[in-house]
Amino acid sequence: MTDLLVVGSGFFGLTVAERMAEEHGLDVTVIDRRDHIGGNAYSERDAETGIEIHRYGAHLFHTSNERVWAYVNRFSAFTSYVHRVYAKHRGEVFPLPINLGTINQFFRAAHGPGSARALVTEEAAELGDSTPQNLEEKAISLIGRPLYEAFIRDYTAKQWQTDPKRLPADVISRLPVRYTYDNRYFNDTHEGLPVDGYTALLERMADHPRITVHLETDFFTSSEFGKASTVGNVPIVYTGPVDRYFDSSLGDLAWRTLDFEREVLPVGDFQGTSVMNYSDLDVPYTRIHEFKHFHPERDSPADATVIMREYSRFATGADEPYYPVNSPDDRDRLLRYRELMPQEPDVFFGGRLGTYQYLDMHMAIGAAISTVENRLVPRLVGGDR
Ligand code: FAD
Ligand code: UDP
Repeated sequence: MTDLLVVGSGFFGLTVAERMAEEHGLDVTVIDRRDHIGGNAYSERDAETGIEIHRYGAHLFHTSNERVWAYVNRFSAFTSYVHRVYAKHRGEVFPLPINLGTINQFFRAAHGPGSARALVTEEAAELGDSTPQNLEEKAISLIGRPLYEAFIRDYTAKQWQTDPKRLPADVISRLPVRYTYDNRYFNDTHEGLPVDGYTALLERMADHPRITVHLETDFFTSSEFGKASTVGNVPIVYTGPVDRYFDSSLGDLAWRTLDFEREVLPVGDFQGTSVMNYSDLDVPYTRIHEFKHFHPERDSPADATVIMREYSRFATGADEPYYPVNSPDDRDRLLRYRELMPQEPDVFFGGRLGTYQYLDMHMAIGAAISTVENRLVPRLVGGDR
């Protein structure tokens, strides 16, 4: 038997496996129900063009956590890619996140930082002194109603199919608002893409003599590594959906899923940038990714490009759960699932699905390192094993 079973080979699971094997000498078995490692960060070469595709949606690495940055750089060098996003609204292209360029283009004005701030403060006055309670109020407090209605309201409706008044304010807090012309999408100290792709990085994390990976192995059906034969016999780090672990006994947690429509076009460049958001309701998709722009340093075909249209909807049944909806009902249900966890002292819940939390890659890696140091090592390595 193995010393530790890790369910899920995404960034959380692989970080735990790598740390426990390399740093603490445990034999670790990693299982994943998919036919590849890496979870949603997985990337592959498009067969027709050779362009690297992120199968589960574009993944941009960014972090201000020095430890996480040093950690990922052990497995790959990173390019100097800086993410920028543009948005199409009523036939015009604007820079995102909302910055002085967006504000001036939208209002056909030439505001400086001070007068733009004053304008937005005036717009946001409709909320009075109350603290924003949901996504809509938070957005209006940050940018005022006209910009909210142009760039946020309908995009969010397409993306979440949930009334913005029922979405948590922190969803929008991920998007900075700037009173400069800086249109970098992320504020973090470090940013870039793995030079030879995410999958190469993820494979290096798993490439350790003490780590064994079994693909196409589902924790709920496998005879050898399934729940029935492992819980109570071996410590488990579980990164699958938390409600599924408990047989959805308290009801399902709501997730959003995405549909990706991939197309190879016979042109060298389709949109001139990696991501174009579509802010309006008359276009059914939320954004188009054009993958060759993520790696301008690579050779790519002059007469072909791969684009991916992204559509968003509620997940049902067999759909991949991508984003936790996190409505008040979901949060209440999650708390009740958490109350069941102490019944399973040798199962450690982690990652995006296991904690029902939106986690960027750097957050998943940081959380995995903390789980290793604060929970797994004291429990599994400290002598009371
Ligand atoms: P996952 O990557 O989801 O891995 C979980 C693994 O568990 C999966 O491989 C799954 O197959 C496996 N699993 C589940 N159930 C079972 C089971 N029963 N048995 C066996 N295996 C099972 N982060 C960024 O930093 N930048 C981005 O630009 C970015 N873009 C994103 C875009 C999209 C569309 C999505 C969905 C996420 C994005 N993220 C991004 C977040 C990033 O994907 C996560 O931070 C990262 O995947 C978290 O890793 P994880 O290990 O927690 O989960
Ligand atoms: N958002 C928006 N318009 C945009 C981009 C983002 O309204 O053009 C909102 C939307 O609610 C989204 C949130 O901001 O869910 C976070 O955006 P981000 O780009 O981080 O979304 P992700 O890449 O995680 O889907």
